[in-house]
Amino acid sequence: MPVDTVITGGRVVTTTDVSIQSIAIDDGEIVAIGAEDSLPEANERINASGKIVMPGVVDPHVHIDEVPENRAGTYEAESAAAALGGVTTFIDFSFQGKDRANSEPGAPLIEGIRHKQSKGEDSYVDFSLHSVLRREDRETFDELEAAIDAGVTSFKMFRSTYDIGVGNGFIHEAFRHIADHDAVAALHTEDPAVCKAITDRMKREGKGNAVHYPDSRPDYAEAMAAEDAVRMAIETGVKYYGVHTSCQKAAAVIDQFQDDGSSIRAETCTHYTIFDRSRHDELGNFPLIAPPLRTADDVEAMFNYLDRGTLSVVSTDHSVYYKEFKKTDDWWDAPFGATGLQFSLPVFHEVAINRRDYSYPFLVRTMCTNPAQTFGMPQKGTLEPGTDADVVVFDPDQTKTISSANKKSNDPVTIYEDVEVNGTVMHTFVRGNQVVADGELVANPGTGEFVKREIPDWSI
Ligand SMILES: [Zn+2]
Repeated sequence: MPVDTVITGGRVVTTTDVSIQSIAIDDGEIVAIGAEDSLPEANERINASGKIVMPGVVDPHVHIDEVPENRAGTYEAESAAAALGGVTTFIDFSFQGKDRANSEPGAPLIEGIRHKQSKGEDSYVDFSLHSVLRREDRETFDELEAAIDAGVTSFKMFRSTYDIGVGNGFIHEAFRHIADHDAVAALHTEDPAVCKAITDRMKREGKGNAVHYPDSRPDYAEAMAAEDAVRMAIETGVKYYGVHTSCQKAAAVIDQFQDDGSSIRAETCTHYTIFDRSRHDELGNFPLIAPPLRTADDVEAMFNYLDRGTLSVVSTDHSVYYKEFKKTDDWWDAPFGATGLQFSLPVFHEVAINRRDYSYPFLVRTMCTNPAQTFGMPQKGTLEPGTDADVVVFDPDQTKTISSANKKSNDPVTIYEDVEVNGTVMHTFVRGNQVVADGELVANPGTGEFVKREIPDWSI
């Protein structure tokens, strides 16, 4: 019996090496890797010679369709962007109170999960969810178990200047309960009081031009909140995942508390590995993100801390807004968020491999294997036989200038506009289904499925 697909002769990348191999895929799984003549007959053969063959990217930090009135992203559009960018699994957020707009304030975590799962039925790629805790009451802790049973094994909170934010006392108690379940806790770390005080001062001073925006959320405010979080994580014994680390000062705090690497992990995002705050000179309010873009030294610091392992994942924090919401005179009237799903792999490939000589195994560890392992998805982020056939064929030699004109996301403009990259995604397979062929979407929405995640083991 022939297998479904054999991808022949590519430079196959694992977490440790690169070698010329062929890959056999059948019934949604990788069934063999080896020399081409050792593999079974196939219904379809894809010639990947000269190309990189790697696991699909696992992006553990994306926001899709959160508040319909000002967010433009839908599962169909954003997951199409993901597929074209070689992202085969992402982790979105579901909300206590049903959705981010808090449409049913009493609704438990599991309702938010079901609500987002139904939106995800149109997804082109696989997806999972983090559950956001927002109701500062003890009943919240009784809701964790149903979420975990549904395959949502990580919980995020925001600090209190956000509309959905909670205080440190609640965060501390939540960490204890999340630790009891051996699940993962994440927190948006920017000290809310400091950021608010500076923002109020900038309003009085009329510093509404976006070039001033990064001063309103300084690196030390991120480091302060990161220290609160990692101290509470160490004391409560919770597995803690630091999201969107943007600067040297915050990474240094995480590093300092990460003595054995077993309970504190952290990510940076693609935009922090390429841009400094001067991006606002070029694009005004559009690169408005929180934490903000920092300095050129901070960009280099992200690589230093990725080298050390302090940061082990590169995500996108993909968020979409209607254009008119970003087109304000003063930055404080515009929402935060930028997209990345379609361009994250080619951009990180450019800055890490092409510009800084990092290896392909480094790219696969930080974008595929580490996020899958950190969040309890052993079927993802690897090309091991027996795992899901989430595979990307990447052409490292094709030069492209990124342009909003060829993006799939509903984002009005990409933060990566006019960035020239050497390397582009040719083919994307999700559980053996070819979703992208020769850079074009070829599947139907709904090819993706919800991924039930396990409690991750961080001791390995
Ligand atoms: Zn985010």
